[in-house]
Amino acid sequence: IAEETRSFVARQPQSRAHRDRAAHLAGGATSNWQIAEPQAVWFSHGSGSKIYDVDGIEYADFHGGYGVSLAGHGHPAIVAAVQERVTRGTHFAQPTEDAIVVADNLAERFDQPLWRFANSGTEATMDAIHLMRAATGRDRILKVEGCYHGHHDSVEVSVLPEPDDDIGPPDRPHGVADNSGIPDAILDLVTIVPFNDLGAVERALAEHPDQVAGMILEPVMMNAGIIDPVDGYLAGLKELLHRHGALLTFDEVKTGLTVGPGGVTRLVGVTPDLVCLAKAIGGGVSTAAIGGTEEVMSLIADGRYEQVGTFNGNPLAMAAARAMLTEVLTPASYAHLDRLRDRMTVGLQDVIDRHDLPWRVVTAGAKGCVSFLPHPIRNFRDFLQLDGRYGQAHWLVQANRGAFLPPWGKVEQWLVSVQHTDEDIDRFVANCGHLASRLT
Ligand code: PLP
Repeated sequence: IAEETRSFVARQPQSRAHRDRAAHLAGGATSNWQIAEPQAVWFSHGSGSKIYDVDGIEYADFHGGYGVSLAGHGHPAIVAAVQERVTRGTHFAQPTEDAIVVADNLAERFDQPLWRFANSGTEATMDAIHLMRAATGRDRILKVEGCYHGHHDSVEVSVLPEPDDDIGPPDRPHGVADNSGIPDAILDLVTIVPFNDLGAVERALAEHPDQVAGMILEPVMMNAGIIDPVDGYLAGLKELLHRHGALLTFDEVKTGLTVGPGGVTRLVGVTPDLVCLAKAIGGGVSTAAIGGTEEVMSLIADGRYEQVGTFNGNPLAMAAARAMLTEVLTPASYAHLDRLRDRMTVGLQDVIDRHDLPWRVVTAGAKGCVSFLPHPIRNFRDFLQLDGRYGQAHWLVQANRGAFLPPWGKVEQWLVSVQHTDEDIDRFVANCGHLASRLT
């Protein structure tokens, strides 16, 4: 790590200079998650599958803006839609026709009849939690240990607790605030359960009779590598929650369009009461969506729940989302993504076999990661055993050789875009081979 860190810094004097100039940017970045060790990389532009930093270095983009850039960069369909919209006005705070097409498309993909828009994944999950509370008249929320749902009060709980936090036993995790500024009164309304454990949910529902409004989870957990739901888990959750008068929300902000055309919802055939989308749906423009059943979304329709926002469904985002959904994410695009995923899996597995390493390749559609743990991961506690130095070494080795992963190597995944090529995949695999040979 020390050697790779030195060459990383030596290659990027302009990123360092930008950081030094950014005296009025708190922490020298525009989000705490852009601050990386040894330093943030500042970017100038992207094109196709490539991104270019301020030192002029080209990278194949496997970061994908934390799961946004499924279209790649400068996709002609998105560029045309955005350019056209910009010339005709970008904001009226009144709906435009594109919103009808986007809602129709999402209704078909996710099997939910009614939709609203917001601007970020955080807003979408906040609305979903408000809706579950409003629909049931109850306050308590069940949340899965290790799932990330954005940065509002009810969900910044037990996202990435450290082993030395008071995390409690694996089957009854304690709620741990992940940020400052979260009132204890809110923490007290959140019950934490382990992923893939129906028994824990049943117990939580029994211990809080008639108090649980609903449960929110990532149906494939993605903020701890990638963790698949075990067979029957998602269907079992829906049945259990409904039996207790509670609702189910899938947070498909990351999985939505990346694991397949209709998210995990379609893959698994379990339709929740509410689904949250963001990231990739806007084709690179910030937007989010909440879809739900007639029963729950009627609260919005008749004004019992005020789902509002100045920028909701703004024309620019709706134009980009329409192009993304109707022109970019075609069946041919998904076939291309599947082929790249297979090439990546075969290439990385070959590296693992040749070096006799205990690692595993885990993929979900266009997303994937190398798991540096020898055993399969079923929940956050399994994942906690991972040594974060592997992720950091992988990030540095990839970046120093022209492939950019999310800096938080331990928890994040790669994203392959519809504009990625075999050459991009082969570059990534070769770099991983380099990491493997340095370690063995
Ligand atoms: N939900 C999930 C599953 C996420 O991964 C994220 C962001 O990483 C969010 C919600 C929050 O989205 P945003 O950062 O757009 O607020």
